[in-house]
Amino acid sequence: MKKSFALLVVCMLVIGLLAGCGGGDKKPAAPAAPAADKKVFVNIATGGTAGVYYPLGGAMAEIFNKNIPGMNASAQSTGASVANINLIKDGKVEVALVQNDIAYYAANGTEMFKDKKVEAIQGIASLYNETIQIVTIEGKGIKTVADLKGKRVAVGALGSGTEANARQIMEIFGITYADIKPQYLSFGEAANGLKDGNIDVAFVTAGAPTAAIQDIAAQHKVALVSVPADKAEALIKKYPFYAKQTIKGKTYPTVTEDVQTVAVKAMLVTSSKVDADLVYKMTKAMYTNLDRIKSAHAQGANVQKATALEGMGIKVHAGADKFFKEK
Ligand code: GLU
Repeated sequence: MKKSFALLVVCMLVIGLLAGCGGGDKKPAAPAAPAADKKVFVNIATGGTAGVYYPLGGAMAEIFNKNIPGMNASAQSTGASVANINLIKDGKVEVALVQNDIAYYAANGTEMFKDKKVEAIQGIASLYNETIQIVTIEGKGIKTVADLKGKRVAVGALGSGTEANARQIMEIFGITYADIKPQYLSFGEAANGLKDGNIDVAFVTAGAPTAAIQDIAAQHKVALVSVPADKAEALIKKYPFYAKQTIKGKTYPTVTEDVQTVAVKAMLVTSSKVDADLVYKMTKAMYTNLDRIKSAHAQGANVQKATALEGMGIKVHAGADKFFKEK
């Protein structure tokens, strides 16, 4: 009995040692481009299931699996941008969808990444505009961002880029979290909260139309709160990754007029540790199968090779760079 226990301990130690032999640090080895007979695993970090990252990431996984020999890609639901960059940093995912403002903060060690600079973060491509949509229901008496004071505000999931946008926009209106009742909710949870009356207003930074908002609009008179030009300009001055954006009337059935707000850009990122040939293959597979991207969400139509480096505030990965430089 005693002997077999000792044997077990020895076995575990040996296994532990063997598992640790891969290199000096504990990080998993970065995947190389797949040889025809070898499997390569690629995890794609997205966002909540009621957003745009999630269906797009699913489409990307499908494209990679169909077009790259040995590929085993899958998309996972996450808290979105900030969480995704941490997943890249920790080697837990190889590819992630993130906002360009958040990627910039990570690469430069500013804002939520102050003293936590993520050296490894590199860009694959800039994809489409993500609109900051401040969503409420008619009759709540919320006409401007100033009216958010004292309200139950869904500011985005913990680890989302949305949450940073909510904070920065309110800041321009002189509002802090101390003035509101902040709730860290995914888009789906925020939509349910608005429908049930447990939330007064929600920030949604995502490609429009966003499924979560369409879901509320199916039952309620959705209203969108604007970020008017003067406030947008003050915001852009302080945080240059924002741009002015109009949400066209009828994007959601009950919002008939155009609404002024701001937007950032969605981008695809990876780690400098991921093999250049693999990143090249993924980039090429995506841009040669844009129909599948388009079928995943309306914003997929804006994913184009010609605009793939627009608003890219971080270093482009060598594999993606090779693809974009090809004729
Ligand atoms: N941009 C959002 C965020 O990082 C996620 C958007 C989406 O899920 O489509 O918070």
